[in-house]
Amino acid sequence: MELRLLSNLIDGQLVAPASGATLDVYEPATGKAYARCPDSDARDVEAAVAAAVRAAPAWAALPAAGRARCLHRLADAVEARLDELAREESRDNGKPVALARSVDIPRAVANLRFFAEAITQWPGESHSDARAINITLRQPLGVVGCISPWNLPLYLFTWKIAPALAAGNAVVAKPSEITPFTAFRLSELAIEAGLPPGVLNIVHGLGPKVGHALTEHPKIKAVSFTGSTRTGAAIAAESAKQFKKVSLEMGGKNPAIVFADADLSDANLDTIVRSGFSNQGEICLCGSRLLVERSIYADFKRRYLEKVQALRVGDPNDDASDLGALVSQPHFDKVMACIARARDEGGTVLCGGDAVGVPGRCANGWFVAPTVIEGLPQDCATNREEIFGPVVTLIPFDSEDDAIAIADGTDYGLAASLWTRDLQRAQRMAARIDFGIVWVNCWMLRDLRTPFGGVKHSGMGREGGVDALRFFTEPKNICLASQGS
Ligand code: NAD
Repeated sequence: MELRLLSNLIDGQLVAPASGATLDVYEPATGKAYARCPDSDARDVEAAVAAAVRAAPAWAALPAAGRARCLHRLADAVEARLDELAREESRDNGKPVALARSVDIPRAVANLRFFAEAITQWPGESHSDARAINITLRQPLGVVGCISPWNLPLYLFTWKIAPALAAGNAVVAKPSEITPFTAFRLSELAIEAGLPPGVLNIVHGLGPKVGHALTEHPKIKAVSFTGSTRTGAAIAAESAKQFKKVSLEMGGKNPAIVFADADLSDANLDTIVRSGFSNQGEICLCGSRLLVERSIYADFKRRYLEKVQALRVGDPNDDASDLGALVSQPHFDKVMACIARARDEGGTVLCGGDAVGVPGRCANGWFVAPTVIEGLPQDCATNREEIFGPVVTLIPFDSEDDAIAIADGTDYGLAASLWTRDLQRAQRMAARIDFGIVWVNCWMLRDLRTPFGGVKHSGMGREGGVDALRFFTEPKNICLASQGS
């Protein structure tokens, strides 16, 4: 099979990398390479930054409504290809097409539209007293860098690009080298939508080459990153040398906490199951530690396992599949090693625990059964470290204090979900627990206006709504003295 050749987007043109080298891109469901993406380096980043520097002033000078129109045209182009892009996202990442069609691609459209509208509605700030009127301008930074991961490729790529562009910056963006396909398609659509050349540049390649070149480039004024905590730390260290603004969205080890008084209707239990296994557990928000009040533990476990065992792992093209393939061979190996480690730590595998063979075209794909483990101490590596796969541990608890101690017992602090009918308890717990996002009786219910992000090793800064627009702008305060003062 001829491999599809992807290119960079620089200055409004689709171009090959300076090196001419490429990286193989795999279809996780089949384990076969199907495309090649540019293995770019600092020369390509340099060209992209130069184009962005040229484009930035005119883009910033465009009235907000003009930038919003461009973003809406890009959103229209993505929306018109929703089905096609969903198939491409699924082929690239391994997730079920049905998930990409219902979540990933619609959310990419929503990201573009949300920030197109937000920028036209963003009120200015002014403060006055008898002596003066202070007006605070929010000026774009110039050229900014956006670096994104493989788990929600177009969804997270647009989540960064949209506010950066809306706020009047030119962008140099780097998608994950593991899932570059829909970012490449976005390049084509940006040209079709008539984005001015150089306003959006997309450079493909490896993190230590392209990502690093972008982070250390003196003309890149801010870096918005989503990915692992280890990479986030490297980006923070590099950016600090130039006092660059950084926004870091990183790993998680999220708890779902189920109290005895929770409404455990079938629908809610389905949401709890989904919170562990959606996208094969490869969502930073997935609840990978399921804390259950001891008085209902046995009954809950029985009902929960029934539902988990009913999940179907299979060809992502099949709408009956609940879980597709893990994203890559190395990630598959990592998840399998984590399951082996959980056994070594004394855990009991209640279901799953193995790779799944999917016959036919998917015989060599990277499929793992949804896995539930119990009997592990809260402070073991399995319960502290991110696995980022279809693996959930069950942990009993006895009181609110106990639940908080277990939930907070990791270095991470991204998202927690609480399941209880007692709203006073929910308020108490939500106020105390050390996480950036707390869902009560729901999971991954997103309002794009709200601040999104984590604490501790999960994040620095917030995305979403006004927080994203603030990140991508610099405030400048102008003090106008009142007459005679
Ligand atoms: P990763 O850190 O390996 O890669 C993320 C991006 O950073 C990729 O584009 C990669 O090429 C680039 N990169 C790697 N090294 C770099 C360097 N030295 N300098 C600059 N860029 C570099 O993460 P991943 O494996 O792609 O994604 C999975 C991780 O992302 C998980 O830890 C997950 O929790 C996290 N994540 C977090 C959120 C969130 O919102 N908090 C959302 C999704 C995923």
